[in-house]
Amino acid sequence: MEKSFSFQTNLLHNKWKVDEQTGAVSVPIQHASTFHQADFDVFGKYDYSRSGNPTREALEETIAELEGGIRGFAFSSGMAAISTAFLLLSKGDHVLVTEDVYGGTYRMITEVLSRFGIEYTFVDMTDLHAVASHIRPNTKVIYVETPSNPLLKITDIRGIVKLAKANGCLTFLDNTFMTPALQRPLELGVDVVLHSATKFLSGHSDVVAGLAVVKDRELAERLYKLQNAFGAILGVQDAWLVLRGLKTLHVRLQQSSQAALKIASFLAKHPKVEEVYYPGLSYHPGHSVQRYQAEGFGAVLSFRLADEAAVRTFVKHVQIPVFAVSLGAVESILSYPAKMSHAAMPKEEREQRGITDGLLRLSVGLEAAEDLIADFERGLSYVSAKESLAPSF
Ligand SMILES: *Cc1c(COP(=O)(O)O)cnc(C)c1O
Repeated sequence: MEKSFSFQTNLLHNKWKVDEQTGAVSVPIQHASTFHQADFDVFGKYDYSRSGNPTREALEETIAELEGGIRGFAFSSGMAAISTAFLLLSKGDHVLVTEDVYGGTYRMITEVLSRFGIEYTFVDMTDLHAVASHIRPNTKVIYVETPSNPLLKITDIRGIVKLAKANGCLTFLDNTFMTPALQRPLELGVDVVLHSATKFLSGHSDVVAGLAVVKDRELAERLYKLQNAFGAILGVQDAWLVLRGLKTLHVRLQQSSQAALKIASFLAKHPKVEEVYYPGLSYHPGHSVQRYQAEGFGAVLSFRLADEAAVRTFVKHVQIPVFAVSLGAVESILSYPAKMSHAAMPKEEREQRGITDGLLRLSVGLEAAEDLIADFERGLSYVSAKESLAPSF
């Protein structure tokens, strides 16, 4: 990738802009599962599509370049990417995990990895002292999600990397909320970047996919072996959809992030909104760290109404956003973490993490910010003041 071009240009002006054989301006979809070997002794670059496929490879190389890594891996879902990366661990290892980690990752760690003798500790990673004090001799991975989901807490990536390096552990970072358009963790010393490409990278709510990127050769070899062994690869049609979505990543995130800041500012002033979580607000506790380590604040925010009754009323009356799980799409998506992304987490754990029954998460799409604000204004007008005053336990 020509380093002289901006990220925005590199999304389009790359090795796959034009197909060498035909001049096609879209990556060809190679459906073949197996590849003829012209020579009895010397096999070609591809043999079987689980092990390697040109369409998937175009996506894998693209994400590696965009993240500043040496090798990318495409999986059938974000969870497949995350789970495969966890296979780098062995029995007796310990992993330190950010406290408000994605619900599916929480489930993988607590219900699956635990059965294989992998120990874990959840810790608030905004507190580096807490992280340091929980590192054990057998800690092999520090697992970070920043901004976190759904409370948009910001972890100091450089601080975590320093602790990890000093203690001989790897750092994994789920970069789903930021994408390489806004945050490039490998450049800050992280070892494995993970993505649910289902979200912003593809951007259109029409594909489920996951990616992993590394910058170390030996780690790349290990992860490749695991991808091939576990076999949770991304299909070619889906790889193509992610590649197409990627072309507009920059412009989508720019537009949605600007709108997110406007909406967060509106909600923060609204009397029926108890709290707004968006790192772009100057008084967000992670604002300055985010400015230091990323190039923007992203398109996801959360806000708290008084209780579940207030949430129900609000959701019933807003018209624009879809009410659904997921995020990072062209259409705005309103989610209810308590019953959606964090349903897998016991209520006690959930509330302790601040994911209460009044919390809503919004992923801002490409609608006009003014329309969304007017819609929310209307929705909030139905929430009775009484509801908003009710104690939130
Ligand atoms: C959605 C999501 C995942 C899981 O990805 P899937 O593609 O749904 O498997 C992991 N991490 C974060 C932050 C997510 O938002």
